[in-house]
Amino acid sequence: MTQPDDPIAAIATAAGRGGIGVVRVSGRSLVPLALALLGKIPAARRAVRATFLDASGAAIDDGLALYFPAPQSYTGEEVLELQGHGGPVVMQMLLKRCLELGVRLAEPGEFTRRAFLNDKLDLAQAESVADLIEAATDSAARCALRSLRGEFSAAIEELLRQLIELRMLVEVTLDFPEEEFDLPDRTEVTGRHAKLLEALDIALAKSRQGSLLRTGLQVVLAGQPNVGKSSLLNRLAGEELAIVTPMPGTTRDSVRQAIQLEGVPLNIVDTAGLRDTQDEVERLGIARTWGEIGRADVVLLLVDASVGVTSQDLGLVARIPEAAKRVFVHNKIDLVGAEPQVQREEASTNIHLSAKTGAGMDLLHAELLGIAGWQQGAEDLFMARERHLVALRHAAQHTARAGEHFGQPELFAEELRLAQKQLDSIIGEFAADDLLGEIFSRFCVGK
Ligand code: GDP
Repeated sequence: MTQPDDPIAAIATAAGRGGIGVVRVSGRSLVPLALALLGKIPAARRAVRATFLDASGAAIDDGLALYFPAPQSYTGEEVLELQGHGGPVVMQMLLKRCLELGVRLAEPGEFTRRAFLNDKLDLAQAESVADLIEAATDSAARCALRSLRGEFSAAIEELLRQLIELRMLVEVTLDFPEEEFDLPDRTEVTGRHAKLLEALDIALAKSRQGSLLRTGLQVVLAGQPNVGKSSLLNRLAGEELAIVTPMPGTTRDSVRQAIQLEGVPLNIVDTAGLRDTQDEVERLGIARTWGEIGRADVVLLLVDASVGVTSQDLGLVARIPEAAKRVFVHNKIDLVGAEPQVQREEASTNIHLSAKTGAGMDLLHAELLGIAGWQQGAEDLFMARERHLVALRHAAQHTARAGEHFGQPELFAEELRLAQKQLDSIIGEFAADDLLGEIFSRFCVGK
């Protein structure tokens, strides 16, 4: 397969003003471009002071140029990084100059796509580049970095190694049926099979847990005025409120807050902002909020412990999708002299606490993390995407099904072949173009 290596360029730094801005160029034969733009070829992998020149030879900016000859670069191609002053006009002028010199504007994720196609990264690592950039919490960022460094891929490769060994053990009897091969030792096959299944289960559990760090939990906070919603939100957020980044695609406004518990992002929608209004902009915002409520994982219905659940509360709960877990939070127990506690009923859970004193907040934390599927103390998680979870699940199913055919090597081998295909798809062996398109189109331009 031939791969495009025509020169591409993009502004790699975020839009807006910053101390420094970077235009990145990647492709084949960048030397003429460097000569036209900088008047020289910068020494390989050295920061070189340079003046960036326009077509008439006038200066666009003074900055640093970094030249990476192929293949020792991010993309595996020649790469030129131009670090200038990070203003949008300067960056645009610099980018325009590159385009004048015959370079094309990069598509979203195209640098990383080329890195993948040039075997600098496998597909799971390439995906973790985007996950690292988009990480909403410290834990998510650490987890994404581990994947980028190849820990997730190494775990998948280890599963593949075990699987291929097991396949070989069985398939040798299929490939040479006329030869007098000893049938593989039955206990060896069943032993290896059981070990593989167990390893798949562990990988799946770590991936499921890690995927929570990407997706988080959608929490709806509901209740009558004055029951203590803002107080509870502040308690939940604790010190972290100030440092948490909003989830991608959401804005932080009066009805949405992004916080984290143990590194799991919680996107909290406060229904207090949902009122009847004539204002068109506000109405659009409210419609959007209802959309988010439709995707809620949990509804926290706050009530005053001295009053209990009212008919208005039940009216609100009725508008919330069935699939969401319901947790009634009986707040202000300090006023009625009650102890913090959890009561479980069939369709809901009741937690008695005080947002003011903090008593019982640990119970709420544990409940929310439990709903998220989080296990305390879990380490070395994999930053998995839905696509990885599906593949791992299918691989585990095929492997389990193989176990139903110990007596029929053809069927046994066939199920393992299908399982292998699933694992291969995670790291991008034989990845189809449309899958690559789907993955990389979600990257930002310049990455
Ligand atoms: P919201 O309208 O539902 O957001 O309620 P607020 O958080 O603004 O709280 C309303 C009032 O109840 C404030 O005066 C809070 O200080 C008070 N409050 C909130 N939680 C508690 C609690 O657990 N105990 C007591 N005694 N007062 C609380």
